[in-house]
Amino acid sequence: MTHSLQALDRAYHLHPFTDFKALGEEGSRLIERAEGVYIFDAEGNRILDGMAGLWCVNLGYGREELVTAAAEQMRQLPYYNTFFKTTHPPAVKLAEKLCALAPEHLNHVFFTGSGSEANDTVLRMVRRYWALEGRPEKQWVIGRENGYHGSTVAGMSLGGMAPMHDQGGPGVPGITHVRQPYWFGEGRDQDPEAFGRQCAAALETKIQELGEARVAAFIAEPVQGAGGAIMPPESYWPAVKAVLAKYDILLVVDEVICGFGRLGEWFGSVHFDLAPDLMPIAKGLSSGYLPIGGVLVGDRVADTLIEEGGEFFHGFTYSGHPVCAAVALKNLELMETEGVVERVRDELGPYLARRWATLGDHPLVGEARSLGLMGALELIDPATGERFDKALAAGNLCRDISFRHGLVMRSVGDTMIIAPPLVITCEQIDDLVTLAREALDETARCLAA
Ligand code: PLP
Repeated sequence: MTHSLQALDRAYHLHPFTDFKALGEEGSRLIERAEGVYIFDAEGNRILDGMAGLWCVNLGYGREELVTAAAEQMRQLPYYNTFFKTTHPPAVKLAEKLCALAPEHLNHVFFTGSGSEANDTVLRMVRRYWALEGRPEKQWVIGRENGYHGSTVAGMSLGGMAPMHDQGGPGVPGITHVRQPYWFGEGRDQDPEAFGRQCAAALETKIQELGEARVAAFIAEPVQGAGGAIMPPESYWPAVKAVLAKYDILLVVDEVICGFGRLGEWFGSVHFDLAPDLMPIAKGLSSGYLPIGGVLVGDRVADTLIEEGGEFFHGFTYSGHPVCAAVALKNLELMETEGVVERVRDELGPYLARRWATLGDHPLVGEARSLGLMGALELIDPATGERFDKALAAGNLCRDISFRHGLVMRSVGDTMIIAPPLVITCEQIDDLVTLAREALDETARCLAA
């Protein structure tokens, strides 16, 4: 059964972000069910999901309350839209809840079906805002090299991942990128705080090059997720905020990964004391149980859109989908009543930080860092203390070995990443760290062989 499904998968299924040729005879691993922080494959192996799916299953798997919320809403109103002066209770209640949880000045939300659609919405909204303000020349949006904001054409364009830009033709015009605050990867020869300030200065230089009157917005994740769980030096965000204020440029903080407790606050913006004008969200909003995203919109932009705008010709069939919204609302209510975010901040985040840091002594590890329930290991060649030759694909090797040992770790080049469900226990964190060490040991043996 497993083999025939894998064969059919290879025959018919074009997977996202997958090198088909490299799948080999083995094919894709078949995941059949999940419970708590564990997934189970078709052979019955239990695997600790150190990535919460794709950074999204914040409440863990198997939550009956979310199943019930979906089933009840399906019976009541399985679908209706929110276009043309109609709405429905789940969308209204979710909008109110999100605005109550978000920083004070974010009092409106535009719903989408995904994080990518949220960022498409951001781009159109930002440019429309400035046009309505009588400054249509403010068109440029600055993102960051190696940032990820989705796979639609606008999402890809806002993101700064070179392999994505190399495929599929040109992106959206009027978008450019600046240096990322990736100290281990790009600034190790300097003091981290000086490096953080330098990255913010690079933003200012870019603004001046483009012409300060022509820059509409800067978009960034609080902590770059898909780029490699890159936590910026402390100096970075305050310096960036000062630059944006100086030139009156909107701040878009992409909370698709960092939102909903990942860093120990409801939003990464709270952790870093940011006051974004726009905040794209998705993933953990519904703990990934159903697809839903959105953009939280600050008063400055919302007031102009509402007072000056007339109709905004933009929206998705599934904007505020009632079943997805009902599940998201229940997810947020459960997170609140169970104190999930506070537990990440006060107990699990600090615990992971202590335990994860112990991996820093492994000969293969150049840096072990974490914040909240997000962590990264930078793999290095023990012989040189430098990065491995890329062709070795040490990160992918470690990822595959880790999976076989019973732990999902993701690899971004030679950076290993974890972002487990937020309901993980301290004991399970111990297991995660033990499994990660076993995977590192075996990877080291394979690389030495
Ligand atoms: N923004 C960030 C920061 C993300 O990490 C992702 C997905 O990983 C997206 C946007 C795109 O979200 P989606 O895959 O739901 O379109």
